[in-house]
Amino acid sequence: MHRITLGDFELSVFSDGTYPLDGGAFFGVIPKVMWSKKVAADENNYCTAGLNSLLIRTGKENVLVETGMGNKLSERMRKFYGQPAKLLENLSAAGVAPEDIDIVINSHLHFDHCGWNTVRDKNGKVMPTFPKAKYYAPEGEWLYARKPSDRDVISYIPDNYDPLVASGQMTLLQGGEEIVPGISVKTFPGHTASMQGIIVNGHPGLERARLSAAPVDEEEDDGALAPEGAVACYISDLMPTTAHMDLTWGMGFDLYPLDTIASKKEYYARALPERWLTVFTHDPKVPWAYIEREESGRMVARKPD
Ligand SMILES: [Zn+2]
Repeated sequence: MHRITLGDFELSVFSDGTYPLDGGAFFGVIPKVMWSKKVAADENNYCTAGLNSLLIRTGKENVLVETGMGNKLSERMRKFYGQPAKLLENLSAAGVAPEDIDIVINSHLHFDHCGWNTVRDKNGKVMPTFPKAKYYAPEGEWLYARKPSDRDVISYIPDNYDPLVASGQMTLLQGGEEIVPGISVKTFPGHTASMQGIIVNGHPGLERARLSAAPVDEEEDDGALAPEGAVACYISDLMPTTAHMDLTWGMGFDLYPLDTIASKKEYYARALPERWLTVFTHDPKVPWAYIEREESGRMVARKPD
Protein backbone atom coordinates (compact mmCIF):
# COMPACT_ATOMS: atom_id res chain seq x y z
CA MET A 1 0.00 0.00 0.00
CA HIS A 2 1.16 3.54 -0.74
CA ARG A 3 1.19 5.90 2.22
CA ILE A 4 2.77 9.30 2.79
CA THR A 5 2.64 12.03 5.40
CA LEU A 6 1.82 15.46 4.06
CA GLY A 7 2.11 18.01 6.85
CA ASP A 8 -0.69 17.29 9.31
CA PHE A 9 -2.38 14.79 6.99
CA GLU A 10 -1.76 11.16 6.18
CA LEU A 11 -2.49 10.13 2.59
CA SER A 12 -2.88 6.60 1.28
CA VAL A 13 -3.93 5.13 -2.04
CA PHE A 14 -6.46 2.31 -2.29
CA SER A 15 -7.18 0.52 -5.54
CA ASP A 16 -10.49 -0.76 -6.84
CA GLY A 17 -8.46 -3.06 -9.12
CA THR A 18 -7.44 -2.72 -12.75
CA TYR A 19 -9.36 -2.93 -16.01
CA PRO A 20 -8.63 -3.15 -19.73
CA LEU A 21 -8.79 0.08 -21.71
CA ASP A 22 -8.30 0.37 -25.47
CA GLY A 23 -4.93 1.95 -26.16
CA GLY A 24 -6.32 4.20 -28.89
CA ALA A 25 -8.98 5.57 -26.56
CA PHE A 26 -6.38 5.96 -23.80
CA PHE A 27 -3.97 8.04 -25.90
CA GLY A 28 -6.20 9.79 -28.45
CA VAL A 29 -4.26 11.17 -31.42
CA ILE A 30 -0.86 10.01 -30.15
CA PRO A 31 0.46 7.31 -32.53
CA LYS A 32 0.87 3.82 -31.11
CA VAL A 33 4.55 3.76 -32.13
CA MET A 34 5.01 6.52 -29.52
CA TRP A 35 2.73 5.47 -26.65
CA SER A 36 3.67 1.80 -26.87
CA LYS A 37 7.17 2.78 -25.70
CA LYS A 38 5.65 3.83 -22.39
CA VAL A 39 2.70 1.48 -21.92
CA ALA A 40 2.25 -2.14 -23.01
CA ALA A 41 -0.81 -3.29 -24.96
CA ASP A 42 -2.08 -6.84 -25.44
CA GLU A 43 -3.03 -8.52 -28.74
CA ASN A 44 -6.40 -6.73 -28.68
CA ASN A 45 -4.71 -3.36 -28.13
CA TYR A 46 -5.89 -3.19 -24.53
CA CYS A 47 -3.77 -1.44 -21.92
CA THR A 48 -4.16 -1.92 -18.17
CA ALA A 49 -5.77 0.97 -16.31
CA GLY A 50 -5.78 1.37 -12.55
CA LEU A 51 -8.57 2.67 -10.33
CA ASN A 52 -6.87 4.67 -7.60
CA SER A 53 -8.79 6.23 -4.72
CA LEU A 54 -7.09 8.57 -2.27
CA LEU A 55 -7.79 8.39 1.45
CA ILE A 56 -6.87 11.49 3.45
CA ARG A 57 -6.78 11.22 7.23
CA THR A 58 -6.85 14.79 8.50
CA GLY A 59 -6.89 13.84 12.19
CA LYS A 60 -10.54 14.88 12.36
CA GLU A 61 -12.03 13.28 9.27
CA ASN A 62 -11.41 10.43 6.88
CA VAL A 63 -11.86 11.82 3.39
CA LEU A 64 -12.14 9.44 0.42
CA VAL A 65 -11.45 10.92 -3.01
CA GLU A 66 -13.07 8.88 -5.80
CA THR A 67 -14.78 5.52 -5.40
CA GLY A 68 -13.62 3.50 -8.43
CA MET A 69 -15.86 1.37 -10.62
CA GLY A 70 -17.96 -0.26 -7.91
CA ASN A 71 -20.04 -3.42 -8.32
CA LYS A 72 -23.15 -2.27 -10.21
CA LEU A 73 -22.02 -2.53 -13.84
CA SER A 74 -24.45 -3.90 -16.40
CA GLU A 75 -23.64 -7.22 -18.02
CA ARG A 76 -22.73 -5.42 -21.25
CA MET A 77 -20.26 -3.12 -19.52
CA ARG A 78 -18.77 -6.00 -17.59
CA LYS A 79 -17.88 -7.61 -20.93
CA PHE A 80 -15.68 -4.62 -21.76
CA TYR A 81 -14.29 -3.68 -18.38
CA GLY A 82 -14.67 -6.67 -16.12
CA GLN A 83 -15.65 -5.50 -12.69
CA PRO A 84 -12.74 -5.82 -10.30
CA ALA A 85 -14.63 -4.30 -7.32
CA LYS A 86 -11.67 -4.44 -4.94
CA LEU A 87 -11.97 -1.11 -3.11
CA LEU A 88 -13.95 -2.19 -0.06
CA GLU A 89 -11.77 -5.24 0.60
CA ASN A 90 -8.61 -3.17 0.17
CA LEU A 91 -9.92 -0.58 2.63
CA SER A 92 -10.98 -3.32 5.00
CA ALA A 93 -7.51 -4.92 4.88
CA ALA A 94 -6.17 -1.60 6.20
CA GLY A 95 -8.79 -1.51 8.95
CA VAL A 96 -11.04 1.05 7.27
CA ALA A 97 -14.76 0.20 7.36
CA PRO A 98 -17.39 1.99 5.24
CA GLU A 99 -18.70 3.62 8.46
CA ASP A 100 -15.28 5.20 9.04
CA ILE A 101 -15.52 7.41 5.95
CA ASP A 102 -16.75 10.92 6.81
CA ILE A 103 -16.47 12.58 3.41
CA VAL A 104 -16.49 11.30 -0.17
CA ILE A 105 -15.43 13.58 -3.04
CA ASN A 106 -15.94 12.72 -6.74
CA SER A 107 -13.85 14.62 -9.32
CA HIS A 108 -16.51 13.87 -11.93
CA LEU A 109 -19.30 11.37 -12.39
CA HIS A 110 -18.03 8.89 -14.99
CA PHE A 111 -18.80 5.34 -13.89
CA ASP A 112 -15.17 4.49 -13.13
CA HIS A 113 -14.84 7.35 -10.62
CA CYS A 114 -17.98 7.11 -8.48
CA GLY A 115 -18.98 3.43 -8.72
CA TRP A 116 -18.72 2.64 -5.01
CA ASN A 117 -20.71 5.72 -4.02
CA THR A 118 -23.66 3.34 -3.74
CA VAL A 119 -24.45 -0.37 -3.53
CA ARG A 120 -27.66 -2.36 -3.95
CA ASP A 121 -29.02 -3.98 -0.82
CA LYS A 122 -30.49 -7.50 -0.94
CA ASN A 123 -33.83 -6.14 -2.14
CA GLY A 124 -32.15 -4.26 -4.98
CA LYS A 125 -32.55 -0.84 -3.37
CA VAL A 126 -29.68 1.56 -4.01
CA MET A 127 -28.02 2.59 -0.74
CA PRO A 128 -25.03 4.75 0.14
CA THR A 129 -21.94 2.54 0.56
CA PHE A 130 -20.54 4.95 3.13
CA PRO A 131 -23.58 5.53 5.35
CA LYS A 132 -22.16 8.32 7.51
CA ALA A 133 -20.37 10.21 4.73
CA LYS A 134 -21.19 13.56 3.25
CA TYR A 135 -20.70 13.23 -0.51
CA TYR A 136 -19.52 15.99 -2.86
CA ALA A 137 -19.44 16.21 -6.67
CA PRO A 138 -19.31 19.01 -9.25
CA GLU A 139 -22.74 20.48 -9.96
CA GLY A 140 -21.88 20.99 -13.65
CA GLU A 141 -21.15 17.26 -13.95
CA TRP A 142 -24.43 16.31 -12.37
CA LEU A 143 -26.41 18.65 -14.60
CA TYR A 144 -24.57 17.31 -17.66
CA ALA A 145 -25.05 13.71 -16.54
CA ARG A 146 -28.81 14.20 -16.68
CA LYS A 147 -28.55 14.84 -20.43
CA PRO A 148 -25.24 13.48 -21.68
CA SER A 149 -24.31 13.47 -25.35
CA ASP A 150 -24.73 10.33 -27.44
CA ARG A 151 -20.97 10.03 -27.35
CA ASP A 152 -20.61 9.62 -23.59
CA VAL A 153 -24.03 8.54 -22.35
CA ILE A 154 -22.52 5.11 -21.55
CA SER A 155 -20.17 6.73 -19.03
CA TYR A 156 -22.94 7.86 -16.68
CA ILE A 157 -24.80 5.52 -14.30
CA PRO A 158 -27.42 7.59 -12.43
CA ASP A 159 -27.62 5.09 -9.52
CA ASN A 160 -24.12 6.24 -8.55
CA TYR A 161 -25.30 9.75 -7.65
CA ASP A 162 -28.99 10.53 -8.20
CA PRO A 163 -30.22 8.80 -5.02
CA LEU A 164 -27.59 10.70 -3.00
CA VAL A 165 -28.61 14.05 -4.48
CA ALA A 166 -32.29 13.24 -3.90
CA SER A 167 -31.70 12.33 -0.24
CA GLY A 168 -29.54 15.40 0.38
CA GLN A 169 -26.50 13.27 1.22
CA MET A 170 -24.59 14.66 -1.81
CA THR A 171 -23.68 18.34 -1.99
CA LEU A 172 -23.05 19.78 -5.44
CA LEU A 173 -19.99 22.00 -5.90
CA GLN A 174 -19.26 24.99 -8.11
CA GLY A 175 -15.45 24.60 -7.93
CA GLY A 176 -13.29 26.68 -5.61
CA GLU A 177 -14.89 25.50 -2.37
CA GLU A 178 -12.87 24.41 0.64
CA ILE A 179 -14.61 21.27 1.89
CA VAL A 180 -12.67 20.97 5.15
CA PRO A 181 -9.66 23.07 6.14
CA GLY A 182 -6.87 22.11 3.73
CA ILE A 183 -8.99 20.23 1.19
CA SER A 184 -10.43 22.21 -1.69
CA VAL A 185 -11.62 21.66 -5.25
CA LYS A 186 -10.83 23.47 -8.47
CA THR A 187 -12.38 23.03 -11.90
CA PHE A 188 -9.99 21.83 -14.62
CA PRO A 189 -12.00 21.64 -17.86
CA GLY A 190 -10.97 19.34 -20.70
CA HIS A 191 -11.86 15.73 -19.96
CA THR A 192 -15.34 17.07 -19.23
CA ALA A 193 -16.46 20.67 -18.85
CA SER A 194 -16.77 20.56 -15.05
CA MET A 195 -14.25 17.99 -13.80
CA GLN A 196 -12.59 19.11 -10.59
CA GLY A 197 -9.14 18.44 -9.17
CA ILE A 198 -8.96 17.88 -5.40
CA ILE A 199 -6.21 19.95 -3.82
CA VAL A 200 -4.86 18.83 -0.45
CA ASN A 201 -2.77 21.22 1.61
CA GLY A 202 -1.24 19.34 4.53
CA HIS A 203 -0.64 22.61 6.39
CA PRO A 204 -4.19 23.92 6.39
CA GLY A 205 -3.28 26.98 8.46
CA LEU A 206 -0.98 28.28 5.74
CA GLU A 207 -1.46 29.45 2.21
CA ARG A 208 -5.21 29.04 2.21
CA ALA A 209 -5.85 31.86 -0.25
CA ARG A 210 -3.55 30.51 -2.91
CA LEU A 211 -5.51 27.31 -3.12
CA SER A 212 -8.75 29.01 -4.05
CA ALA A 213 -9.98 29.05 -7.61
CA ALA A 214 -9.28 32.75 -8.03
CA PRO A 215 -5.98 33.73 -9.62
CA VAL A 216 -3.55 35.11 -7.05
CA ASP A 217 -1.93 38.49 -7.34
CA GLU A 218 1.66 37.67 -6.37
CA GLU A 219 2.33 41.29 -5.32
CA GLU A 220 -0.40 41.27 -2.73
CA ASP A 221 0.20 37.75 -1.53
CA ASP A 222 2.10 38.26 1.69
CA GLY A 223 0.67 35.22 3.48
CA ALA A 224 2.98 32.55 4.80
CA LEU A 225 3.93 30.01 2.17
CA ALA A 226 3.16 26.36 2.64
CA PRO A 227 6.42 24.42 2.86
CA GLU A 228 7.59 22.86 -0.36
CA GLY A 229 5.95 19.52 -0.94
CA ALA A 230 3.05 20.23 1.42
CA VAL A 231 0.40 20.08 -1.29
CA ALA A 232 -0.98 17.11 -3.22
CA CYS A 233 -3.50 17.18 -6.03
CA TYR A 234 -5.79 14.42 -7.24
CA ILE A 235 -5.80 15.67 -10.82
CA SER A 236 -8.09 12.87 -12.05
CA ASP A 237 -8.61 12.42 -15.79
CA LEU A 238 -6.80 15.63 -16.69
CA MET A 239 -3.67 13.50 -16.39
CA PRO A 240 -4.77 9.93 -15.72
CA THR A 241 -1.32 8.27 -15.70
CA THR A 242 2.37 9.18 -15.76
CA ALA A 243 2.23 8.51 -19.52
CA HIS A 244 -0.12 11.50 -19.89
CA MET A 245 2.11 14.21 -18.43
CA ASP A 246 3.10 15.81 -21.76
CA LEU A 247 0.80 18.69 -22.62
CA THR A 248 -0.44 17.10 -25.84
CA TRP A 249 -0.85 13.53 -24.54
CA GLY A 250 -4.56 13.68 -23.76
CA MET A 251 -7.05 10.83 -23.76
CA GLY A 252 -9.32 10.12 -26.73
CA PHE A 253 -12.19 10.33 -24.24
CA ASP A 254 -11.58 14.03 -23.58
CA LEU A 255 -14.59 16.05 -24.72
CA TYR A 256 -12.57 19.29 -24.98
CA PRO A 257 -8.98 18.39 -25.90
CA LEU A 258 -7.81 21.99 -26.29
CA ASP A 259 -9.09 22.77 -22.81
CA THR A 260 -7.16 19.74 -21.51
CA ILE A 261 -3.94 21.37 -22.76
CA ALA A 262 -4.84 24.76 -21.24
CA SER A 263 -5.78 23.15 -17.91
CA LYS A 264 -2.52 21.17 -17.80
CA LYS A 265 -0.59 24.41 -18.35
CA GLU A 266 -2.53 26.05 -15.56
CA TYR A 267 -1.89 23.09 -13.29
CA TYR A 268 1.83 22.98 -14.01
CA ALA A 269 2.19 26.73 -13.43
CA ARG A 270 1.60 26.01 -9.73
CA ALA A 271 2.26 22.33 -9.27
CA LEU A 272 5.83 22.42 -10.62
CA PRO A 273 7.27 25.40 -8.68
CA GLU A 274 5.38 24.46 -5.50
CA ARG A 275 6.37 20.81 -5.90
CA TRP A 276 2.90 19.35 -5.60
CA LEU A 277 2.50 15.60 -5.30
CA THR A 278 0.32 14.58 -8.25
CA VAL A 279 -2.06 11.65 -7.74
CA PHE A 280 -2.76 9.62 -10.90
CA THR A 281 -6.25 8.14 -11.03
CA HIS A 282 -5.65 5.42 -13.67
CA ASP A 283 -1.95 4.58 -13.35
CA PRO A 284 -1.73 0.89 -12.34
CA LYS A 285 1.88 1.21 -11.15
CA VAL A 286 2.63 4.79 -10.07
CA PRO A 287 -0.29 6.21 -8.08
CA TRP A 288 1.55 9.43 -7.24
CA ALA A 289 4.72 11.31 -8.10
CA TYR A 290 6.34 14.72 -8.19
CA ILE A 291 6.31 15.94 -11.79
CA GLU A 292 9.44 17.74 -12.96
CA ARG A 293 10.27 19.42 -16.26
CA GLU A 294 13.72 18.57 -17.56
CA GLU A 295 15.77 21.15 -19.44
CA SER A 296 14.80 19.46 -22.71
CA GLY A 297 11.17 20.19 -21.81
CA ARG A 298 10.42 16.52 -21.18
CA MET A 299 8.20 15.86 -18.17
CA VAL A 300 9.41 13.23 -15.72
CA ALA A 301 7.71 11.64 -12.71
CA ARG A 302 9.82 11.35 -9.58
CA LYS A 303 8.46 8.98 -6.97
CA PRO A 304 8.46 10.19 -3.36
CA ASP A 305 11.43 8.90 -1.33
ZN1 LIG B 1 -13.63 10.23 -16.84
